[in-house]
Amino acid sequence: MATTKYIFVTGGVTSSLGKGIISASLAKLLQARGYSVTIQKLDPYINVDPGTLNPYEHGECYVTEDGAETDLDLGHYERFLNVYTSQANNVTTGRIYQDVINKERRGDYLGKTVQIIPHITDEIKRRIKILGSKGKFDFVITEIGGTVGDIESLPYIESVRQLRWELKNKCVVIHLTLVPFLAASGELKTKPTQHSVKTLLEAGVQPDILVLRTEHPLTADIKQKVANFCNVQKEAVIESKDVSTIYEVPLEMQKERLDEIVLKSFDIEPGEKPDLKPWKEFLKKYKNPKNTINIALVGKYVELKDAYKSINEALIHAGAANETRVNVKYIHSELINEDNYEKELSDVQGIIVAPGFGHRGIPGKILAVKFAREKNIPFFGICLGMQMAVIEFARNVLKLDDANSLEMDPKCKHPVINLMEEQKMIIEKGGTMRLGAYDCKILKDSKAYQAYNKTCIAERHRHRYEFNNTYELEFSKSGMIATGKNPETDLIEIIEIPKHKWFVGVQFHPEYKSTVLNPHPLFVSFVKSILEK
Ligand code: GLN
Repeated sequence: MATTKYIFVTGGVTSSLGKGIISASLAKLLQARGYSVTIQKLDPYINVDPGTLNPYEHGECYVTEDGAETDLDLGHYERFLNVYTSQANNVTTGRIYQDVINKERRGDYLGKTVQIIPHITDEIKRRIKILGSKGKFDFVITEIGGTVGDIESLPYIESVRQLRWELKNKCVVIHLTLVPFLAASGELKTKPTQHSVKTLLEAGVQPDILVLRTEHPLTADIKQKVANFCNVQKEAVIESKDVSTIYEVPLEMQKERLDEIVLKSFDIEPGEKPDLKPWKEFLKKYKNPKNTINIALVGKYVELKDAYKSINEALIHAGAANETRVNVKYIHSELINEDNYEKELSDVQGIIVAPGFGHRGIPGKILAVKFAREKNIPFFGICLGMQMAVIEFARNVLKLDDANSLEMDPKCKHPVINLMEEQKMIIEKGGTMRLGAYDCKILKDSKAYQAYNKTCIAERHRHRYEFNNTYELEFSKSGMIATGKNPETDLIEIIEIPKHKWFVGVQFHPEYKSTVLNPHPLFVSFVKSILEK
């Protein structure tokens, strides 16, 4: 396509309607028609990135290949599209203001009063157009976080209004709302949608397409009513029913012809409907499992499933690849102790110890590792989970009672998990960890090699501490081997216990790279090891 087209996705009525999934589904459908697409999320909070947010507040922090700490929606984008995102795909109000204020201090606006319009909106527009500027993408889908009418969202909506003028017919706005069902009167109600479109109109933005979330099918009358009140074509009122898995949404949106309507809005002839064969094959396997297994996910944020979003999705991908339903039993690491851990873990066939930071729930995580190691139950330790496996081994096999991570005990006698050299002088918290993709070289004689089937890999990181190499020999003599290392720095990336059925700890986060069409080899191999009798 000659020029990049821009699609904006806004939301009304309530948050959590699934703008991210609708954006990712539309992108998937356009991609299946041969277009190159990327998705961007604009978040209206003041944090420069979500790296400093508690997962309870905002769910998982997703990390891109280039080391950006981003919103978890970027995970959906990658899982649906199978294409990497980057720092440019997630922008927050904090980052916009930081840039504008830095420019002001540099004198870039010398003599001028710096204001929301035009300076903040110009910066927002620059960040949107940057993705289209290299000519790499036919479509840039920009999802505006929050709900129309929020004070925080106003500069973003204003930027969309300005871009509609600047970009003319190269720009389409999709607005996602809710049509609630009132059980008492047995009716679906369109008033909240009408009001939310009015709010958007007050800000000067007329949506082209409305996607209505609903628990019940919408009648033709309801669609017509919404079209009349909101100045859109009836065909452009799209129903988005609740479905059992997010991976069905692209198929639902295809049935509703969302992609065709978008293309027609740009005066592009849609052409033939793509068959989405690989996607449907995945769904078929996911929905018709031949086996069922239970896996424990031991972590401290288990009350909020979004905190482990990418791990959950990676297990879904790996389950489908093995035609197996993976039930995840969430175990709160603070609630397991010497008295109950065996009982709590007695009904699972595999154990994952989750990533995390800080002291809370550490003893429970170590007990979960001990149980997996002693009972020969497949074990997968991710980042902090790998560090826990190292500490457990040091204490219970090497008999180094005082072994710990410097994160938990800065004065411990045996710091088997050490602060990385380059971290020692860092005091600022935001964006200062070891972040993004780093190479790792794998030993041929290892479970990791069996999974990846290659010796050179690159995986994404988000941590400050690492395996202390001075203990490596002692560990390997007793049966815990470093099977993956960074080729340049020698940092230990993977540990294994070869004698165990499947005991793998990774300092990186493999979950970020698992996608529907490329399930992650380590997750696939972990699930497979459980199925092997
Ligand atoms: N807290 C640990 C570290 O900083 C592990 C981090 C993680 O699990 N992402 O090294």
